[in-house]
Amino acid sequence: MCAWGYAGPYNCLSCYGCMESCDHLFFHCGFSRRIWYSVILDCGFSNPPFDWDSVVVWCVAKLKGKSLKVCLAKLCLGACIYHLWRQRNALLHGNCPRSEEAIVSQIRWEVRSRILARRSVQIDDKDRPLINFVAACSVVFLVAGLGLCIQYLLE
Ligand SMILES: [Zn+2]
Repeated sequence: MCAWGYAGPYNCLSCYGCMESCDHLFFHCGFSRRIWYSVILDCGFSNPPFDWDSVVVWCVAKLKGKSLKVCLAKLCLGACIYHLWRQRNALLHGNCPRSEEAIVSQIRWEVRSRILARRSVQIDDKDRPLINFVAACSVVFLVAGLGLCIQYLLE
């Protein structure tokens, strides 16, 4: 941001502990790391990386194919980036910031909605624990998610 002529503030607006940078925002900052870990662990991944270069390498290595796990992780990563940047801008411009829990809930809801709208996701037996992630939001989503899963299992 400094290279683009941005005049500050330069410290992270979420924790005020470090200089703002891509690495800090995605996901060195405790605020962003807790959000990233919350949603990516839900996808069935363990020990996800938390520095940007490693996240990129990890995505190239781990997020191949169209399985439910991979689709969830891709959607979660995109949603994390979007909401963390949105949060940063809300803090910068004095808008009401959201709590970690609110952002995680929003990401889960959006990912769930998007995955239920897809027809090309491959769901198999090893993805059964992930179905809870997809369908646990409400009775409506539970019914819709199970219906979708049954449809895919019968195909
Ligand atoms: Zn921070």
